[in-house]
Amino acid sequence: MGYDYLKLCNDIKDLTNKYKSLDVFHIGKSVMGRSIYCIRVGMGKRKIFIGGAYHGLEYLTSLFLIRFIDEYMFRIINKWWFAGFNTEDIFKDVTMFIVPMVNPDGVDIATNGLDLLNIHHRNLIDTVGIHDFRHVWQANARGVDLNHNYDANWKMTVPSPSPTKYGGENPESECETQAIVNFIRKTDFDMLLAFHSQGKEIYYSFDGTNEKKAFLAAQKLADISGYTLIRPTGSDSYGGCKDWFIKEFGKLGFTIEIGKGKNPLPISMIDDVFLDNARIILCASEIIS
Ligand SMILES: [Zn+2]
Repeated sequence: MGYDYLKLCNDIKDLTNKYKSLDVFHIGKSVMGRSIYCIRVGMGKRKIFIGGAYHGLEYLTSLFLIRFIDEYMFRIINKWWFAGFNTEDIFKDVTMFIVPMVNPDGVDIATNGLDLLNIHHRNLIDTVGIHDFRHVWQANARGVDLNHNYDANWKMTVPSPSPTKYGGENPESECETQAIVNFIRKTDFDMLLAFHSQGKEIYYSFDGTNEKKAFLAAQKLADISGYTLIRPTGSDSYGGCKDWFIKEFGKLGFTIEIGKGKNPLPISMIDDVFLDNARIILCASEIIS
């Protein structure tokens, strides 16, 4: 069992019932018309963008972000610290904009498989040429890998729609990518965290931009989590959300690869990944505050 869009929608509803100060809105729609939700947490002038499930098989990142919001808000209300961090100060200084599922259609394919009555799914079978997508699907409902679709040294890694690594006809060709970049362009973010799985790694640079500052901040995130720092190379080094954010704004952007194992990581791994990654978000928030 995975963590699909329906579960996400139910959990967001529960969160907003529980914590009345949370603001939930959508920043755009997926190819299949699903809302891409954003949850605003905090009251500070500093702003951090946090995204999860850019890739279909990586829905553990969505569950992590939802649970993070729940546990963070619980501590705010009770005026408790969280994993060694002063939550009251962070809440006052930093506003988090959390998009827990950037790619709802891809997650749906990876968790629930194909629906032969669905025109998008039938098109995928024709273009990609395979019939069982559940254990391989990373892309959106048009077979575009959303973390290769950003305008940052964009290039064709794979020539046509595929479960993974096809960057689209051109940068920002996909509505999910457009939703993210349009939202980020109109909000003055200080930092971006893009959550993926797996590897227990932190990717920290793009094209040498502000390399020293990025390395120092990434080192703090690595120290607090025990994750390994990686300077991206090969197909990991362009076309991604954090690459575009660094290129466009010259600010700090990191890709966090949660957990270790074979994707999809099991939902039961949430306890194993939770604290390390909660610390990463809290530490990142302190860095910009
Ligand atoms: Zn990924």
